Amino acid sequence: MVRPKRSFPSSTSQRYGAFCTAAARVAFALVFVGITLVHAQTTNFRRHKVSVAKPLTVYFVDVEGGQSTLFVTPSHQSLLVDAGWPDHDGRDADRIMTVVKRAGLDHIDYFLLTHFHQDHSGGVPNLVKLIHIDDVIDHGTNRETSNAPTQQAFENYEAALAHAGAKHILAQPGESIPLEGLTTTIVSADGKVIDTPLPGAGQPNPACKNCPTRPADQTENARSVGIVMQYGKMRLVDLGDLTWDREMQLMCPVNKLGRMDVYVVSHHGWYPSSSPAFVDGIAPRIAIMDNGETKGGSPGPWDVIEKSPRLKDLWQLHYSAEGGAQHNVADPFIANLKGASGSSDGHYIRLEAYPDGRLVVFNSRTGESKTYPAAP
Ligand SMILES: [Zn+2]
Repeated sequence: MVRPKRSFPSSTSQRYGAFCTAAARVAFALVFVGITLVHAQTTNFRRHKVSVAKPLTVYFVDVEGGQSTLFVTPSHQSLLVDAGWPDHDGRDADRIMTVVKRAGLDHIDYFLLTHFHQDHSGGVPNLVKLIHIDDVIDHGTNRETSNAPTQQAFENYEAALAHAGAKHILAQPGESIPLEGLTTTIVSADGKVIDTPLPGAGQPNPACKNCPTRPADQTENARSVGIVMQYGKMRLVDLGDLTWDREMQLMCPVNKLGRMDVYVVSHHGWYPSSSPAFVDGIAPRIAIMDNGETKGGSPGPWDVIEKSPRLKDLWQLHYSAEGGAQHNVADPFIANLKGASGSSDGHYIRLEAYPDGRLVVFNSRTGESKTYPAAP
């Protein structure tokens, strides 16, 4: 049975918008009051400012060149973006459940599917057998029906969600996902991007000038649902596998997204995405790439990211065979080293992002963390 597709009714959409605005105001007020009180208390005893705000926690699950990224908000709500590949004896759903349990979750509030390719949607039938999902957000329907594996993955996804009884929300650029304490805006969906810049953005983007253009991508990649998440001053972007041409619609001639602290590297670091206009425009402080050993991590995007103006570090889920000796980061920044593909335990990367912009990245293979102070 195929579950009925329903769009966001306009009244629902407005209700969500109103809810988001009200919730965001209350949340920001609480965070502000909280930080002010803590600051007032701590400054009596210490000369430096101490922030005790809870982090937004993001787990980058190793799904071997697909995507699965779990966001856990300070108030313990959850957003899972994508679920990796099908098959492999349920490997990717099991790896997702490992971090779900670490995060102490007993359900997923929102599952967002960026697009219907099987390296993103394929793990869903296994996952819904293991945990309940309240709401599912996607761009509607598979637009690449001539691609047999994608069509099969789409049909399996539809059937699994119908069986699990998840509610469906159609993603539309400009709408918000109602997570408490932060603002999560959909900036791309089904080939469309936001018309108007995000608050504070909209400046001309000098990186457009020398950036080559590319023809419009016709695959599901260009349909990816992309989000920008803001928690206090901290800003993060995750555009799924959005392609070069759509990136330039977001970034040229004006930068509709603004600067980011964290770039969830698009398309596993593969060459059809991460245009200089986009990466230099968002100027991330850190970038985390969900590549596999034999998928993604192309030299072109790797160079663009490494040379972007504010970058402190790039992190990789895997060593990239395509990158070779010249285009891989140092081992401490790689979760799964050369040769780990297929036999690894699936080491993950965890990000803790604080509202003042402080970032802490943890590599589960090494057990080590690196802290990045808030941007000046
Ligand atoms: Zn992909």
